[in-house]
Amino acid sequence: MSRIDRKSAATLRRPAELIAHGLVPAADLPDLEKVAARYAVAVTTDIAALIDPGDPADPIARQFIPSTEELVTQPGENADPIGDHVHSPVAGIVHRYPDRVLFKLVHVCAVYCRFCFRREMVGPGKATALSQAAYRGALDYIRTHSEIWEVILTGGDPLMLPPSRLAEIMADLAAIDHVRIVRVHTRVPVADPARISGEMIAALKVQGVTTWVALHANHPRELTKKARAACAGMIDAGIPLVSQTVLLRGINDDAATLEALMRAFVECRIKPYYLHHGDLAPGTAHLRTTLAHGQELMRNLRGRVSGLCQPDYVLDIPGGHGKAPVGPNYLSPADSFSQERKQQPELRYRVVDYCGDIHLYPPMS
Ligand code: SF4
Repeated sequence: MSRIDRKSAATLRRPAELIAHGLVPAADLPDLEKVAARYAVAVTTDIAALIDPGDPADPIARQFIPSTEELVTQPGENADPIGDHVHSPVAGIVHRYPDRVLFKLVHVCAVYCRFCFRREMVGPGKATALSQAAYRGALDYIRTHSEIWEVILTGGDPLMLPPSRLAEIMADLAAIDHVRIVRVHTRVPVADPARISGEMIAALKVQGVTTWVALHANHPRELTKKARAACAGMIDAGIPLVSQTVLLRGINDDAATLEALMRAFVECRIKPYYLHHGDLAPGTAHLRTTLAHGQELMRNLRGRVSGLCQPDYVLDIPGGHGKAPVGPNYLSPADSFSQERKQQPELRYRVVDYCGDIHLYPPMS
């Protein structure tokens, strides 16, 4: 399990390389070295090309260029913010919900996001991938738990594996009768779209299971022509795509950016799936918003785009308690002291329309 191609052409991995490419001022070198010693850094050429070095608030740079704010850990932040460890019965497996498991194959990514919820588990300083013995143990776990219907390949980024290895893994999973769905979580189509070759797409398709791909993208600029072509290649081959986005301060926490992103997903035939509230990963407070702001954005989105463009706004409950939808509530009991409610106590609700206006349901005749 160590066959990983980590060196994509000219991925920038050291602060000096970021400076040499004009992405950060030379004076920042000592600070950047401190952050890079703590957390992995990787910026692919495709991502570097999206950064406007003249914009100090560039939303792409903010996602990938290290900042000294990452060295400050806030109360409540945690190295395992969504509680993977407490639900890990064997190495490589997280079994949080009855019918599905995470299968963490690799601990490397094409790029390292500054807000990563698994930042303490991924990067070149960590074991790159499961050992062959651990891989077999994880597979045995899935095989002996007949309630597992869906296996989610994650990491790290599973599309860092070469297609030949991915094909072997897909075949191993397809050979287990009760596994019907394999979902692949990846940032590769936007970070390094050239990896989505015909061979890679063929590796993802295997008789016996249905493959879904969940694409992680946070800003409409990430959906370049090349990224769109990589996604279209998978979709044209019959692999459905859904999206995952992290709500990030100064990157996509405004209605216009979210609207543009969700519209872009749908135009690319990618169904918006999750808008994640930022997890309590160490050194990420500067990139998190409040839940109240997230709910306000979701209300705003409801008024701007169709249902096809609506993701679920979700929070991973710290401690490993799973995801909870935390979007705004549009339905509530009508005021219990109102005359109408007194007349029909069990039937009256207040429902909010997309403009924010309140109505009673059922309406009075
Ligand atoms: S691609 Fe995913 S796992 Fe990798 S650094 Fe980004 S958020 Fe973390």
